[in-house]
Amino acid sequence: MDCVFCKIAKKEIPAELAMETESLMAFKDIRPSAPVHYLVIPKEHIQSIAHLEGNHKELLAGLIYAAKDLAAKFDLKGYKLVFNVGREGGQVIDHLHLHLLGGWPQP
Ligand code: AMP
Ligand code: ZN
Repeated sequence: MDCVFCKIAKKEIPAELAMETESLMAFKDIRPSAPVHYLVIPKEHIQSIAHLEGNHKELLAGLIYAAKDLAAKFDLKGYKLVFNVGREGGQVIDHLHLHLLGGWPQP
């Protein structure tokens, strides 16, 4: 399958990794929309939040916990966690990913 995030998961194309477990990985977004912008993905190919099944609950919780741990690692005081879902929702890459966005100067 021609999926860029599956290729990153299989280390067929490079990414700036921040975290990796048996089931997920986190890497720097190539075109950051915030001073700190990482993507957390399951290694398994799941198209989007809309394609989750009942047996994915633990995996989904794992993505959120990984983002929380990364935010702590980067000492982010506040941050946004975003799932874009479908084209109308701004999803461009059809492999489930959680955006971790932060690092803006304090207001
Ligand atoms: P989305 O619009 O939610 O599908 O977001 C896809 C994100 O993936 C965008 O923020 C892109 O900058 C990012 N992206 C695309 N290709 C790569 C890549 N090879 N490595 C890292 N990030 C990527
Ligand atoms: Zn994929």
